[in-house]
Formats: sequence, C-alpha cells, structure tokens
Amino acid sequence: MVTGGAGFVGSHLCEALLARDDEVVCIDNFSTSDGSNLTNLNALPGFTFVRGDVSEGIHVAGPVDVVAHLASPASPPEYMRLPLATLAVGSRGTETCLQLAKHHDARFLFASTSEIYGNPLVHPQTESYWGNVSSTGPRSVYDEAKRFGEALTMAYSRSEDVNVGIVRIFNTYGPRLRQGDGRVVSNFVCQALSGVPLTIYGDGLQTRSFCYVDDLVAGLLAMIDQRDFVGPVNIGNPQEITVAELGQRVLEMTGSKSAVVYSASPEQDPARRQPDITLARGELGWSPAVSLEDGLGRTVNWFRSQMDR
Ligand code: NAD
Ligand code: UDP
Repeated sequence: MVTGGAGFVGSHLCEALLARDDEVVCIDNFSTSDGSNLTNLNALPGFTFVRGDVSEGIHVAGPVDVVAHLASPASPPEYMRLPLATLAVGSRGTETCLQLAKHHDARFLFASTSEIYGNPLVHPQTESYWGNVSSTGPRSVYDEAKRFGEALTMAYSRSEDVNVGIVRIFNTYGPRLRQGDGRVVSNFVCQALSGVPLTIYGDGLQTRSFCYVDDLVAGLLAMIDQRDFVGPVNIGNPQEITVAELGQRVLEMTGSKSAVVYSASPEQDPARRQPDITLARGELGWSPAVSLEDGLGRTVNWFRSQMDR
C-alpha cells in the first residue's frame, strides 16, 4: 500500500515496487498531483489505484505486507495553501495508516522530513538532533504534522506492537516534479527552459542538499525491507549547495539566457540544511550514487521533453 502514490516520490516508489514484482495498491486524492504520473503505472500488472483521502479512512481487502505513508503536501506553497489538510494527513491520516498496518500485521513506513529539524542549529543534521521548530509559524502546519506523525508512529510501535520505520527525507528532485509545484528545482528548471527570470528568494546564500529521486527510492526500499530497523533515519544527499549556486548550475546546464531576480525570503526559511547519513550507511548500507550534475541533467531532459509535448 502506497499512500500519495500519484505524487512525485510516490509514483517512483510504486514503479520500483512493481519492478521487483510486488503488488501495489496506491491511494491518492490528487490534492497536489493531477493523475499524470499514473499513466504508465496503470498499464503495469499488479498495480491498483484507489482515489481517496487517507485522512478519511482506508480499507484494503486482502493481505497487506507494507503500508508506505507518503501522502502529504510537500512543497511549502502547497502546504501553506492546504494548512488543515496537511495537519489532517499528518495526524488522522497517519493514524489511519497505522491502524491498517496493525490490522494486517504489516510494516509501516512513515515518510518524515528534514523539516523535523526546522531551522537547524546543528550542522549537518544527525538524527539525534531534536530540531529548532516554530509551533506557530507558517511552516508549522507541515513541520508539526510530521513531528506528530513521528510521535504517533513511535506510540504504535511501543504500545500496539506495530512494525514501523521512519525515514527523514531531505530535499529530493528529479523527473515528475510537477511544474508549478513551487519547489526550487522545478521552478528553476522550468524558468530556465522558458527563458523567464529565475526567482531567488532571499539572498540566495541559504543552502540545501539535493538528492536524486532514484537514490531516495533505493533508500525507501532498503527501509521497507529492513524490518527490524525503526530509525528515524536520514535519507538525503550530503552534497550541500547554495540556492544561488543551484540557479547558476541550472542556467549553465540548460544554456538559458534567463535573468536572475531576487525577492523577499519566505518567513522562517531554513538557512542551512545537510543530512548526516552515517546511520543510513551503517544500518541500511545505503548512500546516494547520483551526482547533482548527473541528476540535474536527467531532470532538465525530462522537463524539456514534457515542455516540448
Ligand atoms: P507530492 O506533493 O508530489 O506528492 C504527495 C501526494 O500525496 C500527492 O499525489 C497528493 O495528491 C497526495 N496526498 C496528499 N494528501 C493526501 C490525502 N489526504 N489522501 C491521499 N493522498 C494525498 O510530494 P512528494 O515530494 O512526492 O512527497 C511525498 C512524501 O515525501 C510527503 O509525505 C513528503 O512530506 C515527503 N517528503 C518529500 C520530500 C521531497 O523533497 N520530495 C522531502 C521531505 C519529505
Ligand atoms: N526557493 C527559491 N526560489 C524558488 C523556490 C524556492 O529561492 O523559486 C528557495 C526557498 O526559499 C528555499 C530553497 O529554495 O530556501 C528550497 O525551497 P523548496 O521550496 O524547494 O524546499 P524547502 O527546503 O524550503 O522545503
């Protein structure tokens, strides 16, 4: 069972599970996706799509081995557009999925986030760091929903004996990011390919560490299969880069003549972010294999083909 399987990461995870002959039931309400990622999946044997809101309950007939809970708005403009739905899917939606896992004696995988660390005071971020998060700021609907989701997951592990795993996903990019979703890689690539200015928020000196989606999915599969490992575990690429440098890379890679425009920084935009992946290396034998250069190239090619169509 993959919740949010019509989205960016979820659709890649469904594809990877089907490629190894797992059967996949995907549930999604298209709140931040449009169904286009399902075109290929629908044609694959073993894939079933259910349209529904995880926060309102789910029922699956037949056995379930794994519940991977990825449903949630993930892009800042999207979760700020959908504050109540974001809180609901992180809380009620997570509990629905945990109950499903309990009922079927399945492993539950929670897609948590580097936003658990907020605007971090520890760098790079290790899993033992408790974070620096505002409970009332504009990002709180997402950050606190995920923090509550982690707490709920641990409570079901401790008191209901559900087999759980928690992954803290750092910024991920690649094909199937939705144009207009608002995240930095899709914005910059689409802007560069369209010849319109790249929009840098703030001074551009804030950093992120970008992980190619195939690497993330390899980490998710490893976590699904490592049934005795709870985590939480960081999954991300430690290669840190400023947002301004990312813009330059995209301009060079696309050969675009787009200008760069600066505007105000979003409130409480984290200044630095970089995963410490020692735990993932040790427990999962996982580390990213795709360089930013290579991954950006693949992403640019994909957006170019979409825009040509
Ligand atoms: P996305 O917006 O592309 O996909 C999320 C999917 O969940 C969408 O298809 C959306 O329609 C669906 N959804 C949302 N609420 C739902 C609900 N109540 N019921 C059913 N479906 C619902 O986002 P993504 O980048 O693919 O993120 C997937 C997961 O990974 C999210 O939980 C996100 O918090 C987490 N994550 C992603 C990143 C990243 O960089 N992509 C980083 C950290 C965490
Ligand atoms: N950002 C930017 N221009 C954009 C989109 C985002 O400068 O068009 C910045 C944003 O302010 C943040 C970083 O890029 O500092 C990453 O933003 P994103 O929304 O992709 O993810 P976040 O890590 O903030 O959740």
